[in-house]
Amino acid sequence: MCKKTTDFYSFLSIYYFYLLYIKDQMDIKNIIFDFGGVVLDIDPQLTINEFVKFGFNDFDKLMTSEFIDEIIGKFERGIITPEVFRTKLRTFLEIEITDQQLDDAWNSLLFDIPKERIEIIENAKKNYQIFLLSNSNEIHYDLFVRDLQLRFGYHEFDELFHKAYFSFDLHLLKPNPEIYEFVIYQHGLVPENTLFIDDKTENIEAAKKLGLKTYQLNKPERVRDIFKDGKLVSNLDIR
Ligand SMILES: [Mg+2]
Repeated sequence: MCKKTTDFYSFLSIYYFYLLYIKDQMDIKNIIFDFGGVVLDIDPQLTINEFVKFGFNDFDKLMTSEFIDEIIGKFERGIITPEVFRTKLRTFLEIEITDQQLDDAWNSLLFDIPKERIEIIENAKKNYQIFLLSNSNEIHYDLFVRDLQLRFGYHEFDELFHKAYFSFDLHLLKPNPEIYEFVIYQHGLVPENTLFIDDKTENIEAAKKLGLKTYQLNKPERVRDIFKDGKLVSNLDIR
């Protein structure tokens, strides 16, 4: 092969690489982070284990829509208050448990926010407009906002991110498209310049349909693996 052809092909492969990875990565101006599984580690099994200690043993119930939609879903959309949630959950799980025991069991799925994640977010904030978009509820929120205040000196998540959104405040849950639209319109975001990072396939798929760029974080991958010096790593497989 003559030199010109070789040069042409090497140019082509570099250009292809640019189109495939670098261009997308350079176009990103905004990042929307999921919370559980991205900023904070969670393990729902730990909460189930706690309820088992109080005598709960009918695990099939946890797959029913009464549990997923009527109790958890409504609590995470802020339709029911913590008081109503506790009453419904006690009755549903058929366990005798005080408010404090219930809250402690409910919260046991949450790990502390790792210091390195806070640092990654702080550094990312220097280069991108950053948002938090979390499906969460008031009992969990009270615990992790206290962790943020006591260990990191922030008053609220709006100080760490440019803006933080929680489902129980918005009365909407991911993957409902309207929750993404709310954030997009609220800040005049251009979807193709906005990266949404989440660990759940259904949330990623919904974001894609609205034209957002997406990255699904898959265990054991951590948010530290996709940032370097406050910027997204250059070979990130953005979809
Ligand atoms: Mg998540």
